[in-house]
Amino acid sequence: MKRILLLGAGHAHLVVLRSLVQEPLHRARITLVTPHAKQVYSGMLPGILAGHYRRADAEVDVAALAERAYVELEQGLVERLDLKQRMVLTKGGKSFAYDMASLNVGSQIARGFRGAQLALAVKPYEEFLARLRMAERIAVVGGGVAGAEIAMALRYRGAQVTLYAENPVLSPRVAKQLGKREVDYRPGMAVTAIEPGFVVVSGSARQDFELALLATGATAMPWLRSSGLATDERGFALVGATLQSVSHPEVFAVGDCATLRETPHPKSGVYAVRHGETLADNLRRIVSDAAPEFYVPQEKALALVTCGARYAIAERGDWGAQGFSLWWWKDRIDRRWVRSFK
Ligand SMILES: Cc1cc2nc3c(=O)[nH]c(=O)nc-3n(C[C@H](O)[C@H](O)[C@H](O)COP(=O)(O)OP(=O)(O)OC[C@H]3O[C@@H](n4cnc5c(N)ncnc54)[C@H](O)[C@@H]3O)c2cc1C
Repeated sequence: MKRILLLGAGHAHLVVLRSLVQEPLHRARITLVTPHAKQVYSGMLPGILAGHYRRADAEVDVAALAERAYVELEQGLVERLDLKQRMVLTKGGKSFAYDMASLNVGSQIARGFRGAQLALAVKPYEEFLARLRMAERIAVVGGGVAGAEIAMALRYRGAQVTLYAENPVLSPRVAKQLGKREVDYRPGMAVTAIEPGFVVVSGSARQDFELALLATGATAMPWLRSSGLATDERGFALVGATLQSVSHPEVFAVGDCATLRETPHPKSGVYAVRHGETLADNLRRIVSDAAPEFYVPQEKALALVTCGARYAIAERGDWGAQGFSLWWWKDRIDRRWVRSFK
């Protein structure tokens, strides 16, 4: 019987677990190693902050799902792969042997400036929600879509919010909404330090806040590279078209922690879900000694950006639309996603 280790309960592994509930894989012993028994769904996180959702509305009960999928759950944080011995080691000192392993551990928030550790990072979401206290003046560092959604959600709750963005990457539609909703958006203003008391420094400018949040870009878990797995230049696991590591085919990597060598694409939940569908098939195929299939990414993904109030922007390539009805559409999609694991 093959021993399969699923590492992390990201979007892709949730899809795998759901597939195993529908059709169990009896010829393998499958274990999931992940730090939390419940997983917060990132797509609804801004809605939790805005007060539209209770946390329970946006949580997947991973432990219950694993049980129904006949998958053992081990709560822990992976900190190293021993690729020679085919062992996974966790922070708590446990080790797990595998014949096949799959990584879906996501990414971590970049902390590339002095004092970044003083700010509260939006990931891991569970820690973020546990530690977040509302404040009147909040700085959000990181001007990608996640930072913009969080800024608008907190503004909606009544805080004065300043959004620092090193690179102005937001679409004109999203940038315009930030202005309309009175978020103090500072594109092109890179934060160079955070000092105690939440003083945010950008070059010669300094401003003090009651709280600073980090929604800076995704960086790779350092142990992916240090374990000896082939990685891209940023340290994300490099995989081929079957989602297997190009250096260690017995290791799959999916979601944000993976980079597809032949067809690199943006890191987002939408792609991670698609990875999960291919991964579920490929695990079954390998257990039955069949050849794994190829993952073909879609060319463009739909982005749905919430704007604090029940209002959203939809963008796909050059196309875009916005309005209240789009928020309700996203709400239906998100609630259906969470419900699909119940
Ligand atoms: C506020 C916000 C809103 C977003 N909204 C959207 C959206 O609307 N649509 C969209 O497509 N994308 C969205 N994203 C991006 C999206 O969240 C990520 O691209 C997506 O979560 C990546 O999914 P994943 O499957 O790679 O892993 P994740 O969902 O990040 O999950 C990683 C898993 O690994 C676990 N883990 C972490 N470290 C370890 C470890 N060492 N050992 C074991 N387990 C570990 C975690 O606990 C978690 O279970 C948003 C991001 C943010 C921050």
